[in-house]
Amino acid sequence: MQITMVGSGYVGLVSGACLADFGHTVSCIDTDAQKIEALKAGKMPIYEPGLQDLVANNVRQHRLSFSTDLVAAVRGAQAVFIAVGTPSRRGDGHADLTFVYQAARAIAAGLDGFTVVVTKSTVPVGTGDEVERIIRETNPNADFAVVSNPEFLREGAAIDDFKRPDRIVLGVDDKRAEAVMTEIYRPLYLNQAPFVFTSRRTSELTKYAANAFLATKITFINEIADLCEQVGANVQDVARGIGLDKRIGSKFLHAGPGYGGSCFPKDTQALIKTAQDFGAPIRIVETVSAVNDQRKRAMARKVFAALGGSVRGKTIAVLGLTFKPNTDDMRDSPAISIITALQDGGARINAFDPEGMDQARQVLDDLTYFYDPYSCCEKADALVIVTEWDAFRALDLNRIKSLLTAPILVDLRNIYEPDDLARHDFLYAGVGRGSSP
Ligand code: NAD
Repeated sequence: MQITMVGSGYVGLVSGACLADFGHTVSCIDTDAQKIEALKAGKMPIYEPGLQDLVANNVRQHRLSFSTDLVAAVRGAQAVFIAVGTPSRRGDGHADLTFVYQAARAIAAGLDGFTVVVTKSTVPVGTGDEVERIIRETNPNADFAVVSNPEFLREGAAIDDFKRPDRIVLGVDDKRAEAVMTEIYRPLYLNQAPFVFTSRRTSELTKYAANAFLATKITFINEIADLCEQVGANVQDVARGIGLDKRIGSKFLHAGPGYGGSCFPKDTQALIKTAQDFGAPIRIVETVSAVNDQRKRAMARKVFAALGGSVRGKTIAVLGLTFKPNTDDMRDSPAISIITALQDGGARINAFDPEGMDQARQVLDDLTYFYDPYSCCEKADALVIVTEWDAFRALDLNRIKSLLTAPILVDLRNIYEPDDLARHDFLYAGVGRGSSP
């Protein structure tokens, strides 16, 4: 199959490289000429484990190429995927579909022969109808079908998720398109990955329902964690105690500083807006979103408390800036709200993140960056772990203690054991691990 991927970001680049690895011929397109130049030179514009090698292998085999020329890449393609960003629209929280509609218009100009246009971007219900309308209006003679195929990969484990998905959701209302999509995903079909064929609108909504459900699960355990702190219970044991119930499941039950990242915050907002517009408000998601927003800043209060009520004039060492480990993505990272709240309280911030510091520089001001955890702690008055990178899981606690002015550790990911830290004479605060009153 000849495939065009429009948008070469976290989703487009990973999906394009994986589809090429399945044996298809894939052209990845982007309007960002610098990104395309970098990719042509073998440089990855994002950090994703395994991506560099996967891309290099498939480029070498002439199955993967990069270009800014969308119209040329669409000609002759049997399928064109739209994998552009759908950020929150400023002001109202609806998904901003500007990039999707721009892509649809540009694709229309290049269509020749029957082509399946696939929305892989996360888009609200009805967007497929609008993409179809735009293409028909721009190129009335085009022979095409619009399919919804939302992506469920997680940054940090994106290649494995794409190649071994829990399911592939396909919203297809056209028999010829169904045949093309089946052919594209045949390698996964052979691996017995479950396929959910459904209508386009159902498929579009499924993606939002999945993200909203996961955001709800995280927020639920976070609120249970707050209660644990008040009653002297341990949220990790509660999570294990409920997670072993197969109806609940153990994933997404890690209490922490609130969800962030490029998907959950904007997708919950967009679902809330769609539901309100259609007169079927989803109040549980409205609450989840509000609770999560407040939580991120509230985490700074844990640091204030650990330092006796105020951080004014103090230096805080922050380890971990990205919204989760194994990515460089800073979009809506909880670290942004937490650090800003600490700065508002009068603290200076030392920071270290293994991959996220370039992006962090674009969204956070007045941080002092370091290139390893230990120098970050030097002469700081407390250490705060915000993201659970593996590199932070086995720190030399004696060394950290000797570097800090006071042995204070606020662990917002519960990666250390309170008893261990007590043995090292640390003042330790985790999340939801209260001591008995
Ligand atoms: P991204 O910002 O990393 O990448 C989008 C790319 O599209 C950018 O490189 C941009 O330059 C390019 N682009 C914009 N308009 C274009 C156009 N008209 N033609 C060609 N290229 C264009 O975004 P992302 O994280 O890859 O997300 C893409 C979509 O996938 C979003 O809808 C997102 O919600 C969804 N999604 C993301 C993830 C994730 O983990 N990042 C997971 C599942 C789904």
